[in-house]
Amino acid sequence: MPPDDHPSIASRLVDLPETPYVGANFVAGATRPRAQRGEVIEVHSPYNGQLLGTVPESSAVELDEAVQAAKRAASDWARWSLKERTAPLFRFRALLLEQLESLAHSVAAESGKTLSEARAGLEKGIEVVEYALSLQNLDQGASLEVSRGVRCELRREPLGVVAGITPFNFPAMVPMWMFPIAVTLGNAFILKPSEKVPFTSLRLAELMRAAGYPAGVFSVVHGGIRTVHGLIDHPDIAAYAFVGSSKVAASVYARAAERGKRVLALGGAKNSLILMPDADPQLAISGVVASFTGCAGQRCMAGSLLIAVGDCDRLVEAISAQAAGIQLGSDMGAIINAEARARLVAAIERAQQAGARVLLDGRTLQPPAAYAGGSWLGPTILDEVAPDSAAATEELFGPVLSVVRVASLREALELEAKSPYGNATSIFTQSGAHARYVSDHAQSGMIGVNVGVPVPREPFSFGGTKASRFGHGDITGSGGVELWTKLKKVTAKWGQSDGSWMS
Ligand code: NAD
Repeated sequence: MPPDDHPSIASRLVDLPETPYVGANFVAGATRPRAQRGEVIEVHSPYNGQLLGTVPESSAVELDEAVQAAKRAASDWARWSLKERTAPLFRFRALLLEQLESLAHSVAAESGKTLSEARAGLEKGIEVVEYALSLQNLDQGASLEVSRGVRCELRREPLGVVAGITPFNFPAMVPMWMFPIAVTLGNAFILKPSEKVPFTSLRLAELMRAAGYPAGVFSVVHGGIRTVHGLIDHPDIAAYAFVGSSKVAASVYARAAERGKRVLALGGAKNSLILMPDADPQLAISGVVASFTGCAGQRCMAGSLLIAVGDCDRLVEAISAQAAGIQLGSDMGAIINAEARARLVAAIERAQQAGARVLLDGRTLQPPAAYAGGSWLGPTILDEVAPDSAAATEELFGPVLSVVRVASLREALELEAKSPYGNATSIFTQSGAHARYVSDHAQSGMIGVNVGVPVPREPFSFGGTKASRFGHGDITGSGGVELWTKLKKVTAKWGQSDGSWMS
């Protein structure tokens, strides 16, 4: 990567490989070069369009090879005690911390995030690892004498081989929402990362190997739609976690459920930020700007609909002024690819045609010279957006904030309730009563009070409602424990009981 002429930016440049990687599946504890030539997927950096490398589009045979290796590993791994299975996770955590900086470069290079966003995603993943480390002390099952001389015991058992299918926007964090808990609870886990960001998952696989996990406990298979279908249809995989767009989440959920499999599929979002005129300006302005511009708006918790209640003109102007100061390439990262950028630009044009006013236009903002050729879009704010227009109701997945004006909090919540999605809703206010009203009545699964990205931290689990989640339960924390285990109930008696019919 040539040095940039601006020194403050040059110090934060993301490392891009000098020569393209040749990625492979990670099967039975090792990278598996292909036996013969097959289809490959090219991966380009959102930063400058540079070819980062290729990964295989796995064939049915390659997929089955991974599943069989995982199946062999699963039966033995399940017999390790929970404490024994936790030991390599301590080493995995230490390796993650040791290599945090180079992992952050890997995440940023393939996803377009800034380095600090990439670090933050890794740190959030490490929190899930820490939660999984605590399971050895928390997951005690249960046992009770249910009638005289009769004891019922509750045990958690692993499911066997399980799989995770993940999106492009968090190459390390979303996989780490899944596999630390799944493997600690005794499953063998197969990751199918997004074909747009496949290389960080191979770094994670190397660290899992270095941490001492037995071969086959953690695997990575690459590919797109065909590989996803192959995983879901494979008879030896018991359960799935999916994270991605709602349309795909719905289809993955239906396909897996039809085959009698357990599945939790998290989808997209259109998150509401309710702005009250009495909001603390500092909290509201920085909270709203961080929410819609963080990760260039490409996160399922990004606030993308600002519902301004009453006279919020000054606050909206200040939000626009703060967002206007954002520098591409240092404060904000890139859009995943040119196609996604073109979709965003078309959505902005459609909103204008539908009567929205462009308060802040990011379409012409340029990144540093070193990143020419990438996919860039500056923060964009659309005001006076019609509440039922596409800009107010559809997930755009970019740094675009749609402002809808309403007269009352009740009206704001009516709008929130109409959304087909249900990930997050935040309110910015200094009134406890208003905050309480929103916490009680909003329909989303995650609510923020003066917090623009209300991601629950461990041990609380992550999950939305409506089209943001298909299936039951949440993905991290105790939700993850439920997802990746089955319950066995053992009822035993070792002598004569008192003769009650139940015993
Ligand atoms: P995506 O749905 O295009 O892809 C997600 C995964 O599904 C990838 O691994 C991809 O290979 C696979 N896939 C794509 N099309 C498929 C199809 N037709 N059939 C089967 N599999 C298919 O999502 P993306 O663009 O990578 O990620 C962005 C989306 O993910 C956004 O909608 C965002 O809101 C959502 N997301 C949700 C959460 C959450 O927790 N709810 C978290 C992160 C991202």
